[in-house]
Amino acid sequence: MRSGVTGDTCTKALLDELRRLVEASEVGDLCVVLDESSVSKGESEAIRLINAAIGGIKKSTEKALTRRDNLIIAGNEAAQLLLTTDEEKYEASMHSAMELLGYGVDADRICIIKNEKIDGEWHFVFQYEWVRDPNTQEAAVSKGLVYPYDLNAEWLYRFRQGEIINGPVQSMAPSLQMFLSRAERKSALLIPLFLQERFWGLASFSDCVYERCFSEDEINILRSGALMMVSAINQHEQAAEIHEAHQRTRILLDSMPYTCHLWNRDQEMFDCNEENIRLFKVRDKTEFRDNFPSFSPEYQPDGRLSCEVVSGVLSTAFAEGHLVFEFMHQASDGTPIPCEITLVRVPYANDYVVAAYARDLREQKRMMEEIERSRAQLEAASSAKSDFLASMSHEMRTPLNAVIGLSELSLAHGTLDEETFDNLEKIYNAGALLLNIVNDILDISKIEAGKLELIPGEYDTPSLINDIVSQNVFRIGEKPIEFVLDISADTPATLYGDDLRIKQILNNLLSNAIKYSKQGAVELGLRTERAEDSDTVWVTAWIRDTGIGIRPEDIQKLFSDYSQVDVKANRKVEGTGLGLAITKKLIELMDGTISVESEYGKGSVFTVRFRQRSVNDSTIGESVVNNLKSFQYSDRKRKKGSRINYLKMQYAKVLVVDDNMTNLDVAKGLMKPYGMQIDCVSSGAAAVHRIAARETLYDAIFMDHMMPEMDGIEATQKIRELGTEYAEKIPVIALTANAVLGNEQMFLENGFQAFLSKPIDIMLLDAVIRQWVRDKDREATQRCDEDHSLLAEAMEGENMTIEIPGVDTETGLDRFGGNTETYISVLQSFVDNTPAIMNRMRKVSAVSLPDYAIDVHGLKSACGSIGADSAMKKAKRQEEWAKADDLGQVLEYNQILLDEVEVLLEDICLWLLDRENRNTKPRLSYPNPVLLSRLRQSCIEFEIDGVDKAMDELESSDYDQDASLIIWLRKKVDALELQEVAEQLAKYDLAS
Ligand code: ADP
Repeated sequence: MRSGVTGDTCTKALLDELRRLVEASEVGDLCVVLDESSVSKGESEAIRLINAAIGGIKKSTEKALTRRDNLIIAGNEAAQLLLTTDEEKYEASMHSAMELLGYGVDADRICIIKNEKIDGEWHFVFQYEWVRDPNTQEAAVSKGLVYPYDLNAEWLYRFRQGEIINGPVQSMAPSLQMFLSRAERKSALLIPLFLQERFWGLASFSDCVYERCFSEDEINILRSGALMMVSAINQHEQAAEIHEAHQRTRILLDSMPYTCHLWNRDQEMFDCNEENIRLFKVRDKTEFRDNFPSFSPEYQPDGRLSCEVVSGVLSTAFAEGHLVFEFMHQASDGTPIPCEITLVRVPYANDYVVAAYARDLREQKRMMEEIERSRAQLEAASSAKSDFLASMSHEMRTPLNAVIGLSELSLAHGTLDEETFDNLEKIYNAGALLLNIVNDILDISKIEAGKLELIPGEYDTPSLINDIVSQNVFRIGEKPIEFVLDISADTPATLYGDDLRIKQILNNLLSNAIKYSKQGAVELGLRTERAEDSDTVWVTAWIRDTGIGIRPEDIQKLFSDYSQVDVKANRKVEGTGLGLAITKKLIELMDGTISVESEYGKGSVFTVRFRQRSVNDSTIGESVVNNLKSFQYSDRKRKKGSRINYLKMQYAKVLVVDDNMTNLDVAKGLMKPYGMQIDCVSSGAAAVHRIAARETLYDAIFMDHMMPEMDGIEATQKIRELGTEYAEKIPVIALTANAVLGNEQMFLENGFQAFLSKPIDIMLLDAVIRQWVRDKDREATQRCDEDHSLLAEAMEGENMTIEIPGVDTETGLDRFGGNTETYISVLQSFVDNTPAIMNRMRKVSAVSLPDYAIDVHGLKSACGSIGADSAMKKAKRQEEWAKADDLGQVLEYNQILLDEVEVLLEDICLWLLDRENRNTKPRLSYPNPVLLSRLRQSCIEFEIDGVDKAMDELESSDYDQDASLIIWLRKKVDALELQEVAEQLAKYDLAS
């Protein structure tokens, strides 16, 4: 409002007074303009003017009061607005509050500025600006505009002191003018704002029309209003922060791959995250929350009711604070969802709640199943590997059977020329080495398949040591190596354990010691210690050598499969690198340990310690120890020789069933010396047929396991099912090239009595024959025959010529590897057995033609094996006709064959008799019992010189009775099987 007064009649003093009053009236916008020239006018005029001025002052004071009241009202309204606004309307409320204040104080712009430290420096940051008329005025400054204080550092200081800037812009300091002149401000009021004594920022009120100063009242009201706005801003910021934090938490919860729910004490779920929607395939969280029980099957896999499980675990979690378990959920479509649930008790609203996190285990379970599948596949592969190794070893053992068996038979014959002997020996050694490797591979495959088991039993310790030494000293050959035995006299005489595996362990270590030494000494030492509180005996054995030694870095590799160390230095030494690995595994099976100390280039000591069980308190004693020690040297003088004495058992008949003719020949060759009738059939069905026919009553069947069409097991079952007592009781011995562990049990369970693995060990074969085929009663009645044949055996080493018309004896002998003994026994067998066959053949008819075929087949083989080629050819022809069902041809030529064989039999008998008469040694009735008893005692004490002496004396005569015993003794002594000799002689004493 504007009013003008012209006071040309007023006195100067009066006018001054008037001016003071006007100013004191504090009516900012009232301006009394007194004209100096009016002083000369009249007094009444002055009074009128004064009255008018007083009236003006009164009016303007009233006006000012009204404005102040209005401003207060506006401030209150603004406060009301800001206090009651909610977050959504916050911006609009701020604007309205500013507008109220703006109009209330008649300002054109209001601005709220916050102090913020940016990069370490204080800045103004514009928060809100209100502009009275956005159409005509410069637009409001946008939120967030930043203005650094350091442009005018003085302000910061002044504002911090609480100083207000108030008045026309023109009258302000130039730096402020620059800042405030923007938007054509004429006047400005800057109020510093403090929150909790901290300089929060500024509120600025500007008049863009008039120059003016804001009154104290206005400043106070505006400061309150501004603080109100600051507090609203603060609140808004805090709410935004809380909101943001909440958002973040939600995002965290909703985006995590676990479902999460919150449960209160009443076991009500009151919140859950988004993952539940995805996992359980529901529309929204509410659907999940409201139907929680339907998201698990009624019963858990362990049979408990799901709802009871939920209730139980929640109670536990509230009580204990933490719980992890597996729970079966299900999706809305019924898909089972195995979950891992973690329950955690957390404080919430003055109490606790339980947060439940569920992790979907389907992927993990799938992976576990995958792993399990691959593990099963690996296991299958490993078992396929073991099976492969087992069957491969079977396939290799079959030809090895022929190689080792035939070369052994041939070597046993002393008439070979040197070159043939050498070559055969090489074949035998190569075969034996190959067999060792096959056995090692089989052992490793058994170990890998966890199928290697110990077969414990009682054994004699001196025998064990004796066997180990005798099996190894010959390996020394020509090498200048001394063999040293260090055995303690208090070693138990008998122990309980798996002696075969112990032999394998010590043989391997000893053979390595000898193999890897060129000279010096190899020592086998043995000590035992008894556990105090049990029947355990700990055996410690060491094998020391002065060989090439092992590098320290190679030592840890020694016991791993297939590792040969120092390959360069050992390139000429045979080996597979399996021996020590097997040794270690075997030792571990005996709860033991193996260790090695070695100095490269100087030698090694392998020490094994393993558990055995004690049997009694007897110890081996000094004398046996001494004999064992002295025996090792004389052993090396021993010649190689046939290892066995054959009982003569012409009374016995065995059936050999094998589809492999070479094996049949070997089996026959090996069993021939017993003089048994050995019939062979090449199929399981034929074996069943033979037994069913009862034409020959066999004492035992040697049955190959693997045969085409009907295998040995099926054939044996069929034989057992024949129903006759004979078929039920006849011993069946399995012959198999498959030495997989457990086979023996399998055979025993399938009607077999015993088991022989190929290549057939003649000692084992002998044991089987003695147990299952021998018949002592029948043996007694044919004692003379037996001696008759054994005499022939005694001459086996002689370089005799055999001349029998119609027989190519040279070829015949060749078939048996030049073994006269076997050959003669085959001849004997031929004489013994052929008449029966011939009798059957004479009666050939249409019905018996198939049997005739088998008989003539057998005759053919028999003629072939003795070298009766002409008869063999005839038999062969007959067999072919018989097989072709051509009875006419068979009948036409049958007699010719029979006549020829008849002559043959006579000639062979003549030769056998003539041979008997050629024996020249002094003849006694029976061996001298004193000598036999001396021999026995020497064997018990391992006193080898005594053994040799007794043996020589015994052999200096021939005997009417028990000639076979002497031959048997010789073979056992040569094989250093002294214990067996002692046992046999003990029995002999009893028998005689
Ligand atoms: P191998 O059949 O090759 O002898 P082993 O498992 O018995 O297999 O032995 C593994 C390797 O350990 C051998 O190849 C040889 O290098 C080393 N070795 C074993 N015994 C001795 C020893 N007494 N002296 C030196 N080296 C040895």
